[in-house]
Amino acid sequence: MPDLILHHARIYTQWPHHPWAEAIAIQKGRIIAVGDNDTILALARSHTRHLHGQGRLVLPAFTDAHIHLFDLARRRGQVALYDATSLENMLARVRDHSHGLPPDAWVLGFGWNESTWPERRFPTRHDLDAVTEGRPAVLWRTDLHAAVANSEALRRAGIDAHTPDPPSGVIDRDATGQPTGVLRELAINLVRQAIPPMTEAQAAANLQAVARDLHALGIVAAHDQRMKDHAEEGPEALRLYQRLAARGDLPLRVSCNLEAAHLNEIIELGLQSGFGDEWVRFGHVKLFADGSLGARTAWMLEPYENEPANTGMFLTPPEEIAAIIQKAHRHGVAISIHAIGDRANRTVLDIFEEALVGGSNAPPLIPHRIEHVQTIQPEDQPRLAQMQITASVQPIHCTDDIPNTDRLWGARGRNTYPLRNLLNLGVRLAFGSDAPVASPNPWWGIHAAVTRERRDGTPPGGWYPEQRLTVAEAVRAYTLGPAQAIGQAHQQGRLAPGYLADLILLDQDIFTIPPDDLPHTRVLLTLLGGEPVHQIS
Ligand SMILES: [Zn+2]
Repeated sequence: MPDLILHHARIYTQWPHHPWAEAIAIQKGRIIAVGDNDTILALARSHTRHLHGQGRLVLPAFTDAHIHLFDLARRRGQVALYDATSLENMLARVRDHSHGLPPDAWVLGFGWNESTWPERRFPTRHDLDAVTEGRPAVLWRTDLHAAVANSEALRRAGIDAHTPDPPSGVIDRDATGQPTGVLRELAINLVRQAIPPMTEAQAAANLQAVARDLHALGIVAAHDQRMKDHAEEGPEALRLYQRLAARGDLPLRVSCNLEAAHLNEIIELGLQSGFGDEWVRFGHVKLFADGSLGARTAWMLEPYENEPANTGMFLTPPEEIAAIIQKAHRHGVAISIHAIGDRANRTVLDIFEEALVGGSNAPPLIPHRIEHVQTIQPEDQPRLAQMQITASVQPIHCTDDIPNTDRLWGARGRNTYPLRNLLNLGVRLAFGSDAPVASPNPWWGIHAAVTRERRDGTPPGGWYPEQRLTVAEAVRAYTLGPAQAIGQAHQQGRLAPGYLADLILLDQDIFTIPPDDLPHTRVLLTLLGGEPVHQIS
C-alpha cells in the first residue's frame, strides 16, 4: 500500500507504455503505480500521505554523468573565484574570506581566470601575502592545471629557490630564481600534500552541503569522476560513500570510477563493473587519451589553425592504452576514457574495435564510454553506435568553448559536439557538467543542448544549429541515458512501476516555454527514494 501519492501533476514518465500520467504511488522508496488521478488515488489508505502537484510538470530526477563529486565536497568552504572581474577584485574576495578564518587556517580557493581580467597576468605569492595575514594560501586556476601559493604555503611545503621542478610539473621562478608562487601541473601536489586532510566528519558535512545544492537543481545521482593524479582521492571518496550509505546518510546515488593504476588488483579481486547497489557502485576504470582544446593539447588529425606544427598529443602511448583496454574488456571491467580531439577519438575507437573483435569470455556487464567526445569526424560517429559505446558529453562545454573552437579548429567546429548526428545514428548520450570545471546546473546544460547559444543569446540562432536537440532529447540524456550507461535502466531514468522513486516537480513546463527561459527553471520538489530532499513552497 502506498505511503505517498503525488497527484494532479503532469508527469512525463519516459515509460513507452504510458508516456504521460497524472498521479504516481510510492511505497518504500519505489514507484508501485502510475496512472490517472482516479485510479491512483483509489489506492490510498489511511496512512498514505498526499502531495498535490498543482498541475505542474514532473520528470524523472537527473543524474550528472560526469561530475567531480568528491572534489566538489573537498572544495566546499573554499572561496570560489569564477566571477572575479579583475586581479584586484579577486584579492579583495580572498582578503574577506581569509579574514573570517581562524589565524592558522589554510586559505583555499579556486576558479580564477586571468584571461578575463584587465591585468591579464597570473597572481603571485606577493599578491596573496598582502591579503592573507600570515595564513598559508593556495588558489587554483579555473582549469585546475595551475595554482598560486603564498609565501607561507611555499614555506610549509618546503619549496624554495633550490627546489627542482618535479616530474610533469613546473615551479615558476622570477628573474632572481625565487619561486613566484605559481605552480603548474604536478608541482601543485607539492603544496597540496602540506594541507591537512579533511576528517571524515568534515568530508561528510561538505558532501551533504554539495548534495543540497544538487538536489535544488534536480540532481539525485552522480557518476563521480576522479581528478587526474590525485592518488589518495579515490579511496577516500569510496570509503566515505560506503560509510554514509551504510548509515542511510548518502545524499546521492553514486557510480564511482576506479583508477587504471589499480586494474590488476581489480581483476585479481574479481570486481566487475556494476558491482554495488542502487546507492554506491563501481562503474568504470578511468583513462585519459589526450589533453584539452584550451591548452591546445587535444590530439587532432590536422594541425591547429595558425599553428602548423601542432596537432596536440596523446597523453599515454596508444599501445599502452590498448593493452589496458584489452585486459579490462577480457575481465568484465568497463572503461571510461577522456578523448577530446578527432584523432584521439578515432584512435580510441580503433582500440575498442580491436578489443571487441578479440572477444571475451567475460565482457563487461555495462558499456564502455568516452568522456567529452568533443570533436569526431563524420566517418567515426557511427562507430560509437555500432560498438554501443556511451558518449558522455557536457553541453555547457560546447557553448563555453565556442570562441576557442572557432579560433583553434576553424571549420572543424562542424564536427564538434555533433549531438544531433550522434542521436540520429543511435548513439547513447549521457549528459553531465564536469563540475567544478563548469557549473553543475543541468538547466543551463539543457539550454545549451537545445539552443547551442550562450545564456546571453549569442550567437543568435545557435552555433552549428543543425546539431541542436529537442528538450525531450536533452532530458533523456540527463536521466535515462546515464542510467543505461551504468546498466540501471531497469530502475532509474523512468517513472514506472518498480523504478526508484526519484523525481522532480518544476515551476514551469519546459516543453512549451521559449528556450531562452530554460536556464531559469526552478525545481520546487525533489524526491530521492520517495523522500523529499528539497522543497520550496
Ligand atoms: Zn572532468
